Amino acid sequence: MDNLIFYLDTIIGKEIAFVLGINYQFVSKIEKVENKCLFIQEEKDIELALKKGLVRGEDFISFDELYDYMDQFVREIEIIGRKYPRTRDFEKINQIYNGHLYLTEMLIKVLFSKPKDINCHEITTKYNLDENGNLWGCCPGWIQKPFGNFLFDYDNIDDNYFARIIKLSQINKTFCFCDLTQCRYYGKPEIDYKDLDFNIPKFPLQLTVSIDRKCNLRCNSCRKEFYVASPEREKFTRDITDRLIESDILNHTDVLLAGQGEVFYSENYDKILKSLTKTDKIKILSNGTLFNEEKWNLLYPKFQEIHVSISIDALSKDTYIKLRHGNYDDLMKNLDMLGKLRKEGKIEQLWFNFVVQKENMNEMIDFVKFAKDHFVDKLQFTKLNNWGTMTEEEYLDKCLIIDNYLNYDLYQILKNPIFQEKFVDIEFFHEYMENSKKKYEQ
Ligand code: SF4
Ligand code: SF4
Repeated sequence: MDNLIFYLDTIIGKEIAFVLGINYQFVSKIEKVENKCLFIQEEKDIELALKKGLVRGEDFISFDELYDYMDQFVREIEIIGRKYPRTRDFEKINQIYNGHLYLTEMLIKVLFSKPKDINCHEITTKYNLDENGNLWGCCPGWIQKPFGNFLFDYDNIDDNYFARIIKLSQINKTFCFCDLTQCRYYGKPEIDYKDLDFNIPKFPLQLTVSIDRKCNLRCNSCRKEFYVASPEREKFTRDITDRLIESDILNHTDVLLAGQGEVFYSENYDKILKSLTKTDKIKILSNGTLFNEEKWNLLYPKFQEIHVSISIDALSKDTYIKLRHGNYDDLMKNLDMLGKLRKEGKIEQLWFNFVVQKENMNEMIDFVKFAKDHFVDKLQFTKLNNWGTMTEEEYLDKCLIIDNYLNYDLYQILKNPIFQEKFVDIEFFHEYMENSKKKYEQ
């Protein structure tokens, strides 16, 4: 609890420290706390505090004063899509989409939401930088508000008021800025850190850089056309890249390149890769088609610990071309090289990813054998998502999951014992498997 109070102090600022009542209820019974300031909502509490001889601004602060205090530092502009005027009403705040909350409302939300039985530390340890320059604790799409923007809040991007309040939602376990309907880890062992503590690391353990959409492929599940960036967008991405390189963060964390686009098809990712001089660890996420010996030489021996993850989605040439429109022969050659490097221990971890869909489900079993022959540490099968490239009808036809049941053929395939091999991960399908078992076998 002491650490929590300390952290709350740092949110508001050194000169106005405050402590909250038990379970973050607003104070109604006022008792003087040494060196701390009470946080007061109701007018009657202010009167009571004054009667007790407490000094306003030193011993206690009201919410209105808090608004004013924060407004000195943050100019809250009109938020587009926002239905309500600024409010102190917790119930109302709860009806507003997190991305539209003003700073002070975020604070109310984090203080008054109920703690959840979640032991997750992704917010403070796994950052994501997106193509708009926003820096997120955990994943964009799972968390509904970024810490800040690399082009606008460069100096204290992960230590401004927004960032501190979002981090507080992890510390006090309210996780109130998470969208748990989207969080793939919620309820899963991946985030179950029993030793969760209040210490906030100065730097994240991992930064995923997803700033450039450029790619040499156009996978059906990702985009309809080859992506061509406008000159303005090119400049914007270059600016984010430069800011990122100038910042202190890159050499203090594990870097994962690239969460967007193809890492070996972007001069920006190339620049970032070359700028890494103080770390000996790198994680590469690639489609593999350009990952040849020349690219490997950019990584090794510069980095001593290299993790590689390749998205493939097919075993046969026909299916590969149909789904990913890439150069299959180059891919196979590069995968052979990567498999060899894994065998020699030059690659620390080699992962293959396979997005399951109608066109490739019959290649899944052989793909497990293929991955094994390439000394893969983890082969992850995931379900198809619709990123706006398919109509709802097309998507339902391809994704093989309807109403939480698997398509019968996919269910039969996944029952094959080969999917029980330790390096094979079909976690995404477990829930559907159980539902399907009831449907097809009872
Ligand atoms: S609970 Fe899920 S969304 Fe929230 S921080 Fe953890 S992993 Fe991210
Ligand atoms: S390789 Fe990755 S980034 Fe490129 S089009 Fe395919 S899914 Fe998208």
